[in-house]
Amino acid sequence: MSEETQKIAYKAYPLGFCAGVAWSIDNAKRALNDGPVTGLGNLVNNFPVVHSLEARGMTFVEDPVYIPEGARVMISAHGLSESERRLLRDKKTQIIDSTCPLVAKVHERVKRAKEIAVAEGRDWDVLYICKDLEHREPKGVIGEAPDNITPIRTEEDVKDFVPVPGKMYFIDTQTTLNTGKALAWIDRLREKIPDIRIPDLGDVCFATQNRQGALGLVLAREPQVMIAFGSRISSNTSELVKMGKAAGAEVYLVETAEEVQRGMFEGASRVAVTAGASADPMHADKFMRQLSVGGYKIEDLRFGKPEPVNFNIPPRVEDYRNT
Ligand code: SF4
Repeated sequence: MSEETQKIAYKAYPLGFCAGVAWSIDNAKRALNDGPVTGLGNLVNNFPVVHSLEARGMTFVEDPVYIPEGARVMISAHGLSESERRLLRDKKTQIIDSTCPLVAKVHERVKRAKEIAVAEGRDWDVLYICKDLEHREPKGVIGEAPDNITPIRTEEDVKDFVPVPGKMYFIDTQTTLNTGKALAWIDRLREKIPDIRIPDLGDVCFATQNRQGALGLVLAREPQVMIAFGSRISSNTSELVKMGKAAGAEVYLVETAEEVQRGMFEGASRVAVTAGASADPMHADKFMRQLSVGGYKIEDLRFGKPEPVNFNIPPRVEDYRNT
């Protein structure tokens, strides 16, 4: 077969479940072995997984006020603010904490920012770069210090921000942002506040960076179509979708292999496949097998080091630097 007629499907690797999501799901399954569990918010942004846990006896509520006294409660991978945790403690619940350690690390950093500012006797503010304020992760982080966190969500927020003289500023970010955009915004904020404290290693998590990096390699092959596996409410999947669209691919977001219709990719000689960190990779793999049977050559494009499959808990709290 000539190069021109060879159809190719590019798999952006890694894809699908990150260590944090896999860990949360395992925690839920283990906890259900010991009796009923109420999940606070979707445990992970994956409705098939949430429904399968419901079938095993797990219930989900969105607001901690609805948690019954004394219940066994699981905090989702997206975390929870200290005030909400207090509410759970007041209700004498048994808390099973499945906050991803990389989200917990951002909470710890907000607490550390307060310690540093208080020790120096300064007024302080964390500029928190994030997306949807209704998403659980930003809600939980902002809830750590609502009076001392300024959300930075748009280009206008960055442009219009005016520092208060004498105030101590810190930067933290949501874990699932577009890596390039987060770094660009940090640079622009640093121009306004040269001594701003930024997280030493950044807050955008390795899983988000790796999935975006791998997709960047795939998009450089100029696929006509991109199939992204994941949920519409998943923050890191939505960044992958935006990347595909920005590169000019026709992008379809699906949750399962069964949702992929032939018409989505028919006629495309280059197809990209990716999956967000809360998507089960089995769906992408199943679709790749179908493409292979349909005559596509499969190419895996890999990015980053092999990902950890577990975490050190409790999370290591990195300090800030101000360069
Ligand atoms: S995407 Fe990142 S922060 Fe979110 S659960 Fe996975 S590893 Fe943790």
